[in-house]
Amino acid sequence: MSEQDWDIETQAVRIGQQRSQEGEHSDPIFMTSSYVFSNAAEAEATFKGDKVGNIYSRFTNPTVRTFEERLAALEGAESCVATASGMSAILSTCLSLLQAGDHIVSSRSIFGSTVVLFNKYLSRYGIETSYASQTDLASWEAAIKDNTKLLFLETPSNPLIEVADIKAIAELAHKHDCLLVVDNCFCTPALQRPLELGADVVIHSATKYIDGQGRAMGGAVVGDKKTVGEEVFGFLRTAGPTMSAFNAWLFLGGLETLSLRMQAHSAKALELAVHLFDHPKVKRVHYPGLPQHPQHLLAREQQDAFGGVLAFEVDGGQQSAWTVVDNTNLLSITANLGDTKSTITHPATTTHGRLTDDERLQTGIYQGLLRIAVGLESVKDIKADLETGLTQI
Ligand SMILES: *Cc1c(COP(=O)(O)O)cnc(C)c1O
Repeated sequence: MSEQDWDIETQAVRIGQQRSQEGEHSDPIFMTSSYVFSNAAEAEATFKGDKVGNIYSRFTNPTVRTFEERLAALEGAESCVATASGMSAILSTCLSLLQAGDHIVSSRSIFGSTVVLFNKYLSRYGIETSYASQTDLASWEAAIKDNTKLLFLETPSNPLIEVADIKAIAELAHKHDCLLVVDNCFCTPALQRPLELGADVVIHSATKYIDGQGRAMGGAVVGDKKTVGEEVFGFLRTAGPTMSAFNAWLFLGGLETLSLRMQAHSAKALELAVHLFDHPKVKRVHYPGLPQHPQHLLAREQQDAFGGVLAFEVDGGQQSAWTVVDNTNLLSITANLGDTKSTITHPATTTHGRLTDDERLQTGIYQGLLRIAVGLESVKDIKADLETGLTQI
């Protein structure tokens, strides 16, 4: 049986390790910036590319390569390039695949820093972005122009956990000769494999679930040999936002338990969503695992479970929402997600605070909305922690 036929749990534990002459069982960390050659001719051949070998850790590093091979296998891809953060994965993808005069169509419901990257920075270099609805295919088609080269989305979205139809948007992208790039940070390959659904490139913030314990920054770009292995890698080795060997080593440990953790986060989030759905102080719950969620069926088809993030709305706007936040004792008040520790966020005054009131109303990010990234604690304790504030509303 070849490694490619292994199930994802097996690949996550086994793929990519090149054991050294020391016979180590666990993955080693290669903390070295450069590599030596046995003679001048070998140095020449390696620099020319005639011989495969390490030259400098901005280009390649054995620990980082093990991480890349493992993540590529999990996503069912030919190539993966590891980056210093999730944002540098998105930056490297855009700068290597686009040029001045090109146009991006992106879902409106994407990570805040990605919007700033598109609107404030890429626009300076002649790359414009238009936005479409996460859930309305017609709005994507309407936004595509003659110079559109790339479609970008993230599913499920933050903080309203709306699910985009990857297969349908990939078909649309290809009909217009565009690439579809999917930020798969919320689901990870343990729950969703966008390339199998037709996407061309997958983005990761390894900082989130891949690490899984909130320790280190990292990212990755995953796709075919030409687009990612040559174009994105070529940019990365020159521009330099590479992943450190130490962080790659942490993420390798994260990948080994990724499937188990994603199943646990999802089961706990579903249990909490059902509880909040029936709660008298809660107006609305956003979680695709609930049959009432507008894209519940799509999420069932496209994902193996519903993920660890949910949002809910309380009556009484910001004051009530802050009452819940300020009465928590167990939950961490922070915008991070993908950690073993559950986190609570008030999006309207933090992650989405830059939006105008009108924009927030349009996107459904009301003042009473709270987001929870469910960690690995007992759901009984999380419920009790929320109850203190909820009873005071
Ligand atoms: C956090 C995040 C990013 C950015 O990743 P960093 O590692 O923080 O740079 C991108 N996309 C999504 C969906 C995220 O949650």
